Amino acid sequence: MESRQNVPAGMEIKIKMKIVETIAEVRAQVKEWRAQGLSVGLVPTMGYLHEGHKSLMEEARKENDKVVVSIFVNPMQFGVGEDLESYPRDMERDSALCENAGAALIFHPQPEEMYHKDFSSFVDMNTLTKGLCGKTRPIHFRGVCTVVSKLFNIVTPDKAFFGQKDAQQLAIIRRMVLDLSMGIEIVGCPIIREADGLAKSSRNTYLSAEERKAALVLSRAVKLGRELVQNGEKNADKVVDAMRALIEQEPLARIDYVSAVDGLTMLPVHEINGGELVAMAVYIGKTRLIDNFSVEG
Ligand code: AMP
Repeated sequence: MESRQNVPAGMEIKIKMKIVETIAEVRAQVKEWRAQGLSVGLVPTMGYLHEGHKSLMEEARKENDKVVVSIFVNPMQFGVGEDLESYPRDMERDSALCENAGAALIFHPQPEEMYHKDFSSFVDMNTLTKGLCGKTRPIHFRGVCTVVSKLFNIVTPDKAFFGQKDAQQLAIIRRMVLDLSMGIEIVGCPIIREADGLAKSSRNTYLSAEERKAALVLSRAVKLGRELVQNGEKNADKVVDAMRALIEQEPLARIDYVSAVDGLTMLPVHEINGGELVAMAVYIGKTRLIDNFSVEG
């Protein structure tokens, strides 16, 4: 929120956060800010925003003059049979949350604005994308890298903000920016949780009351794994096995993966020496949830 210049004292006019749907409008706004010497932070999201997204926006606001939030359910990162159509949407509530968090602009494009009919260029990665979520979601990270590259080209931010909740995604984006010399600072932000420990996620809305209780098994496994490591366990397989055993006690839970990997390469490790990521994806009923913790390096 800002006040317009040349307005008599006491008569401040609030300029509202803008919501735009076209690339041209984003470019025009950013050009205006750049002419004023202002820095720009970007928070890419798929909407149905919660406190986790809000924490990214607040960090972005601290570190930049202007914050752009993109809200785009990116079809390219959803596989066949995944939840593209049912993914929750609520632009009215999202707009209020962005405005409260100090965002200056929401970019809310339609898929046609991002992908014209002859679209045929992609950003892909051979290494970090193959394990963990990449195993069951083989095209997911190609969609993520492509859309994030496009957003970077459209917004040209100084910094972009991503959650540690999607730890593999964060590592991939960091690598993409390094490999392709994008010159954008990537800021990772901590996982925001519900009071009982469940990591906040737009997909939590899919859970029935019974599933919501069962979903606590993810954060309990994270807590157990972290405690084992803090108590000196160096054997990664033992940590993972203990976490698996805990999750398997929950009848509504079905493990996709629980893995300990190197925090930069995402390759499996057997020893905990610092800098590892211990990550999991677990189906609770039909809903696939993720959670993780990082071992300090
Ligand atoms: P999404 O809308 O799910 O694509 O998420 C947009 C961004 O918000 C990503 O960088 C996520 O990692 C981040 N995010 C989602 N949930 C959380 C959370 N509980 N805590 C912190 N960041 C989050």
